[in-house]
Amino acid sequence: MATYDDSNIFAKILREEIPSFKVYEDDETFCFMDIMPRAEGHCLVIPKTPCRNMLDASPSQLAACMATVQKVSNACLRAFGADGITLQQFSEAAGGQEVFHLHFHILPRKEGDKLRPPG
Ligand code: 5GP
Repeated sequence: MATYDDSNIFAKILREEIPSFKVYEDDETFCFMDIMPRAEGHCLVIPKTPCRNMLDASPSQLAACMATVQKVSNACLRAFGADGITLQQFSEAAGGQEVFHLHFHILPRKEGDKLRPPG
């Protein structure tokens, strides 16, 4: 597997070189809106420390991300009147990953809805 490359878009967002719409932040994680939402409230949770994807993540990076995923997901249920959450994580190009900084997609869902396709 390739090593982490800090020229990726999410590293630039963390360095505030490009803007993002912040949803939540703590010492270890950052959450922001996806630029091409596939559901109302689609947002992304990332660790602040370098990590390519789930495959090279440390247990502490994964734990910190999951704690934020849970907090933001419960907030999404209230904010968007969602009935549930789809959580997605893609690792490596073959797994569907396009941005190579670990991220978790939070997709608020309503009964009977369909996710919009990527792009
Ligand atoms: P993945 O790597 O999991 O396939 O998807 C990367 C996600 O990042 C996509 O859902 C895409 O819409 C989102 N994305 C790509 N570039 C940007 C950006 O510059 N800003 C934000 N907020 N999201 C982005």
